[in-house]
Amino acid sequence: MDRLFDCVVIGGGVIGTAVLDRLACYDLSALLLEKEDDVASFATRANSGIVHAGYDCEPNTLKAKFNVLGNPLMWRDAELLHVPCLKCGSIVVAREREQLDELVRKAEANGVEVEVLDRKRTLELEPNVADEVGFSLYAPSAGVISPYQLAIAYADRAALNGGEILLEAPVVGIARTSDGNFEVQTPKGTFKARIVINCAGAYGANVNDMAGAEHYETSYRRGDYFVLDNTERKNVNTVIFPLPTAAGKGILVAPTADGNVIYGPTANDTSLGDTATTLESLDELKRNVPLSYKRPAFNKCIRVYSGLRTIIGHDFVIGESEKVDNFFMAIGICSPGLTSAPAIAEFLTDGVAKRLGAARKQNVVAELEKPVRVKELDDVALNELIKKDSRFGRIVCRCEKVTEGEIVQAIHSPLPARTVDAVKRRTRAGMGRCQGGFCCTRVMEILSRELNIPLTEVKKGLGANIARYRIKEVNDD
Ligand SMILES: Cc1cc2nc3c(=O)[nH]c(=O)nc-3n(C[C@H](O)[C@H](O)[C@H](O)COP(=O)(O)OP(=O)(O)OC[C@H]3O[C@@H](n4cnc5c(N)ncnc54)[C@H](O)[C@@H]3O)c2cc1C
Repeated sequence: MDRLFDCVVIGGGVIGTAVLDRLACYDLSALLLEKEDDVASFATRANSGIVHAGYDCEPNTLKAKFNVLGNPLMWRDAELLHVPCLKCGSIVVAREREQLDELVRKAEANGVEVEVLDRKRTLELEPNVADEVGFSLYAPSAGVISPYQLAIAYADRAALNGGEILLEAPVVGIARTSDGNFEVQTPKGTFKARIVINCAGAYGANVNDMAGAEHYETSYRRGDYFVLDNTERKNVNTVIFPLPTAAGKGILVAPTADGNVIYGPTANDTSLGDTATTLESLDELKRNVPLSYKRPAFNKCIRVYSGLRTIIGHDFVIGESEKVDNFFMAIGICSPGLTSAPAIAEFLTDGVAKRLGAARKQNVVAELEKPVRVKELDDVALNELIKKDSRFGRIVCRCEKVTEGEIVQAIHSPLPARTVDAVKRRTRAGMGRCQGGFCCTRVMEILSRELNIPLTEVKKGLGANIARYRIKEVNDD
């Protein structure tokens, strides 16, 4: 028989996982359905990872409201969930002081602390800004976070608090039954729900259509990036933005929470599904980065990637449908959606809990257990750990210094890693200079052993196979 949930959340990006995390603190049953084989598989995986201060959002918009509310929540969540992050501040660089006036005005309207710095003070903060930079707008509350690790941590904490997650469960239809509940159809079964929350990102408008809710025209804008080797990290202290344009916040130079540097993103209109970087847009980055940053090191690039912005009108679409009651949505969540995620989740959860008359649970897990990250341990702590579990002494990913113990830990976490990419997002195995060239097969072997599946069934991620069949038997002796 179909199970009835108080709430079904569709989509496991940072919005859906944050919503499930907050719902799991209430006395209600909640299920998240995600179409891919891991959470954080779409926009949440490929963005700039900036925790925006909120000075540039148009005042009195949902973007401004949720960005400003989300920033402090994000820093608190990152601490409790042990997500890599760095509150390094951001600067917007300009030739003339007047070019920053509009941003200062918006910052005041949005209640965000900023300060205009002259060139001397800008250089104290960021010695490598371009020679043409005369002034900058400094926002101390900005910083960087690992976006996918945040979503994974939300999913982990939600699972520990009783939230359920079903992967590889694309929602293909939504029907309403005579008792007023929803029937949410997936190839893995149909799930009944009192309330549905649409957090399906790029497919949000499509899910709205399935439910008969408001129809929205959606457009997509791709952003390409360079990722630099971690040896470049010493040259970048803060997030360096150019002046914003109509297309967005512009091409930035920023540290990542995990110790690399990124240059990007571009902003090119495209269609759903296009996440292929192009030579043209990488060239655009090469032309633009030097305008704000004077020591670009494109020769230190270890990877390029792109992410897809989902745009519906000029603002986020958040709240209950006016056409279908008990159908809520958070769609068209482009930038600053990552920063806004915890505030959007709290807003939606408050509304849903009130509607269901659900009270807060007495005892919930607030802080996750800190995962072992061998790279962060000193020799004494590491040796103690290895005495207890020798797997923490076996390095699998040499570039990022990730051990077998950490990979096993990820495979057995509350939302288990089931693919090579899922292990990579949780541990960074494969994210270093060689991009998995050396460790991929070792990670596959560990997945195969821990999940008790043949090597040929270990997936890369997004359903992709790596090994098709064995070409020779290996003698392990
Ligand atoms: C290039 C770029 C740079 C950005 N930089 C920043 C930044 O620096 N700071 C910031 O705050 N924000 C930034 N953003 C915005 C931020 O990345 C997004 O707002 C956020 O990731 C959106 O999360 P989401 O959960 O709505 O979407 P997604 O992460 O796309 O998640 C939606 C999920 O729904 C699933 N799904 C879709 N259809 C179905 C279905 N039918 N059934 C089940 N599941 C389904 C998808 O598989 C996906 O996992 C950036 C975005 C881009 C693209």
